[in-house]
Amino acid sequence: MKRFIFFACILLSLAAALSAGGRRETKNTEDRINVVTTIFAPYDFVREIAGDRVNLTMLLPPGAESHSFEPTPRDIITVQNSDVFIYVGGESDAWVERILDSFDTSRLDIITLMDCVDVVEEEIVEGMEDEEEDDSEEEEAEYDEHVWTSPRNAQLIVRKIADVLKARDAPNAAAYEKNTAAYIAKLTELDASFQKVVAGAKRKIFIFGDRFPFRYFADAYGLSYYAAFPGCSTETECSAATVAFLINKVRSDKIPVIFHIELSNEKIADAICEETGAKKMLLHAVHNVSKRDFEGGAGYYGLMSQNVKNLREALQ
Ligand SMILES: [Zn+2]
Repeated sequence: MKRFIFFACILLSLAAALSAGGRRETKNTEDRINVVTTIFAPYDFVREIAGDRVNLTMLLPPGAESHSFEPTPRDIITVQNSDVFIYVGGESDAWVERILDSFDTSRLDIITLMDCVDVVEEEIVEGMEDEEEDDSEEEEAEYDEHVWTSPRNAQLIVRKIADVLKARDAPNAAAYEKNTAAYIAKLTELDASFQKVVAGAKRKIFIFGDRFPFRYFADAYGLSYYAAFPGCSTETECSAATVAFLINKVRSDKIPVIFHIELSNEKIADAICEETGAKKMLLHAVHNVSKRDFEGGAGYYGLMSQNVKNLREALQ
């Protein structure tokens, strides 16, 4: 009998290990609160504030494109079982509203990143590919959802998340506050580094052969930009006129670097670089990270620190 129980236990723990396989979760522990985020940036913020004091889940699989994410039935259950749920609140996660409407959310703390900061409308600049207007959609101002790309906004978001975690999980409040203060100091240092790069730069313009999710970032540091698409365009092919416009800009202003964003096919940036001899570099917008970066422990601070270096080179 003992032997049987022993094997049953092994089978059970094996089943548990298998069912947890590939999930972006810390070890599930009963007495910890469940925190669920849609995308990577807030996932990393919670990790910085709470460490392993909460059960943390990111719905978006590492390496996946965040704008076309569709939740699985299991994701919906994960949201329903959460204590704190954090999403962006923009057009990319319209699916979230459907889930939140489908069950009683009264015991749930919900944080939307866009409510943590002052939002601005998505912008179409000269030469940019505009999205086709869909007649069936209402004419509504689309607010740019990429609020976390500015380290100053990141501080406001981290503060909000910390306050909610402290209230929800009072026994750990002191630890959360300590971690938050340390992390906000790092974000402040990041902000100072970007300011310094821009202050000492030869040019105040950067060019993206890609989508442009850096509106809040550009506003924070007084940069202007050209790009193939606005922030959350779902298009990946752009017209010859758009590419030609960007090529002309690069040539006339002798722009040294063309940026692409993470998890991009980089095709437009490649085309512009090939034509102009400019160097292709990454400016990471921290929607998500590759599976390899995820497993390697990449985070907002490290990715943004690399952005400081890449931006310095691009503004030469
Ligand atoms: Zn985006």
